[in-house]
Amino acid sequence: MYLEGVILVEWIDWGDGWQISKLCYGVLPMGPLQKDLGPERGAELLLDAFQRGINFIDTAQSYRTYDHIRGALEQWNGRVYIATKSGATTREDMKRAVEEAREALDRECLDIFHLHAARVDVDVFDQRRGAYEYLQECREEGVVGRIGISTHSAPVVRRAAEEEGIDVVYPLINMTGLGILGGDRREMELAIEACADAGKRLYAMKVFGGGNLLGDRSAALDYVLSLKGMDVVSIGMLHENELTVNLGLLENSEIDPEIWEGTAGGESKRLHILRLCTGCETCIEHCPSGALSVHDGQCEVDRDRCILCGYCAPHCPEFAIRMV
Ligand code: SF4
Ligand code: SF4
Repeated sequence: MYLEGVILVEWIDWGDGWQISKLCYGVLPMGPLQKDLGPERGAELLLDAFQRGINFIDTAQSYRTYDHIRGALEQWNGRVYIATKSGATTREDMKRAVEEAREALDRECLDIFHLHAARVDVDVFDQRRGAYEYLQECREEGVVGRIGISTHSAPVVRRAAEEEGIDVVYPLINMTGLGILGGDRREMELAIEACADAGKRLYAMKVFGGGNLLGDRSAALDYVLSLKGMDVVSIGMLHENELTVNLGLLENSEIDPEIWEGTAGGESKRLHILRLCTGCETCIEHCPSGALSVHDGQCEVDRDRCILCGYCAPHCPEFAIRMV
């Protein structure tokens, strides 16, 4: 789609009048868990994205990016769909998470609210019964539009296909299978297909493997969008040029070679463990990819497994984990 030389992204019909941009803006990298661009710069990037047809944002309670989003929304009149998520397990904690999001984003209704379940077992819906039931009450009352689950786990995606209360599934999927838990890429593909057959809406997480697949962006996007039911991709972006390239790829338009080259390594990021590390192992249980281990009293990261999600960093008591 084009307008006066600007590439606009296609919108996908998600039913009930929802027209969702094929590119979802993932805001995790701009927040304090990763690059920490600050709310003002974050709002600037999001506003630029809105102007280019993006109307879908993916965030989370833990990303601490509600201010970035609100700053952009205050300068924009168009419809913007926001998906947020919380790792809450109890009804009370989920209630707090929903109210926090409504207040911070100044929204009566939150379009999509996920159970944030990166690394969980298939009994997540039982383990989090209180939180899940509260979201269902919110949907009945019009406080939440659709309920989702975001996960890195193939068995959980498979389980979500059978779960009537789930409308949207946000699985980790990429062409090398980097970061998939509980199975391989093929198992995740089949689970995604089961969700599509069950009528769930899907959008894809970590299509570039946290930056590891940036060298083959075109193939990475083609692969994910070839999966049944997968018509929207979420990508974290830290600069206008990254948006330009991703829109160009999705809309098959010409991309300035200089911008292409300049974004080949991404704006981010590499995980570093500083010498401050005491080897306490606290971070290990917070890594959804099993990429951390401690040897001789020092934490080490397996770069072939790390998807650069940044989830480990806030749990280090020594502030020894840095994403730079
Ligand atoms: S090491 Fe940290 S950044 Fe890398 S996958 Fe694990 S939690 Fe994410
Ligand atoms: S939590 Fe921090 S101090 Fe503990 S092992 Fe991990 S990096 Fe080292």
